[in-house]
Parts: sequence; structure tokens; C-alpha cells
Amino acid sequence: MEQGDLIEDIDALQLAQSEQIFTKASNRFIRKWNRKESTFIEYFQKEWLTSHRGWYEDIQQLTPSTNNDLESNNKVIKDENTFRERLPLGLKQFHDEQTVTLDIWPSSYQWVKLDKSVVSIELENEIEFYIPGGQQLSISKNEIDVMKKLKWYSFDQYKAKAFNIWHVILPMDSAKWLNGQCNCPVYFKKFMCKYIVGLAIRLNYCKPPPAAKNIPIGEKRRRDRPSKAKKALLIQ
Ligand SMILES: [Zn+2]
Repeated sequence: MEQGDLIEDIDALQLAQSEQIFTKASNRFIRKWNRKESTFIEYFQKEWLTSHRGWYEDIQQLTPSTNNDLESNNKVIKDENTFRERLPLGLKQFHDEQTVTLDIWPSSYQWVKLDKSVVSIELENEIEFYIPGGQQLSISKNEIDVMKKLKWYSFDQYKAKAFNIWHVILPMDSAKWLNGQCNCPVYFKKFMCKYIVGLAIRLNYCKPPPAAKNIPIGEKRRRDRPSKAKKALLIQ
């Protein structure tokens, strides 16, 4: 049981979305496990927090901003052993056209139907969105602050607070919404996720294919569903 908890925590650490988050969460992780699993922690610290650090999710590594970054990242990755196979570096950059795979549409459509309250902030060339995760329907300014400033003081707080708000950035140019970025685990694997697609649906940037709207098995189909419901899916 205890070992299961440890593995679960390593999985959570792996989801750290930046160097800064990884460093801070690592410290919290060590503090939590140091006494109970001192031998393992000593090994882990040496091998996976010092020698080979490239095994966590890091948006900077996926979309390097300059060629220099790309080269240095490639070198780092080449030199490092990883826990799992990483996606080829900069893959997204070389994709002329990002696509939405069929499996993302239904989950995006379901997410839109939850009608969560999303906080949006317009920046110079892009729009930032803060999306409540899990069962939450809305988020407070304080919760956004906690997420942005990494205000978690134990590893358990990191697990609870670092993943309850998703952060999506969409280009200001609505035609380029497919280049949006998100900090959720699915995005790190597919460069696309239900939050990006869901926001694009809500903002009327795109329309889901009719098949995505099929009601999942287990729910009752209702005839003559008013088209009012459809309109409510869209932001304002
Ligand atoms: Zn996402």
C-alpha cells in the first residue's frame, strides 16, 4: 500500500509542467518520503533528481522558442536516460497543421456541456484561459494565484493544487486556434486536448462533427431536443 502511494507520488512529480514546478515539487516529495523510505530517496535523489532530470513534462522542451534552445534541449535529452519514451522534441513546431484526432471531439463536446465558468485574460497576441478542473465549475482569483505562484507547501498540497486548474493559451487570431497550448497531461502527449478544442467550440472557432454529439451509451436519448441547448454551449 505504502509503495503504491510512493509510485503514485512519482507519477504526480512526473507531471510537473516546468523546471520551476519540478524543482519545488521534488523538494516537497523528498520531505514527505525521506524518513519512511530513506534508502530509496537517497537513490532517487542521486539518479533522478540530480543526474537525469529530463523525465518530467516540460512545455519549454516541447516547444522551444529558439533554435539554440532546441539544440541544447536535444543534447540534454540525448545524453539522458529517461523513465519513459519522450515525444520527439519540437514535434509540434514542425507540424504545419495540428489536427484534432477523432477521439478528442466527443470528450471536448462533453466538456462544453458542463458549461464551466472560465476566466480569460487578453494578452498582446494571445488569450489566456483558466479552467476549473475536476468537479469544480468555477475558480476564484485566489486559486489562480495559488496555481501561478506555486503556493503549495507539502507534496500533498502540490497534488491537490497544481492540477485543479488548467491553463490554456490560444492565439489571438482565431483561425490559428489549433496552435493553442495547454498544461494538462493529455496535451503533453498529443499536443491537443479537450480543453483547447472545447474552448474553440465555445468561442465558435469550430464546430464538432455530428458524430461527436452522439449521446454516450447509458444515457437516455431524448427526442426533439430544443436547439436552445445548442446555443447555450457557446460563450455569450
Ligand atoms: Zn489540455
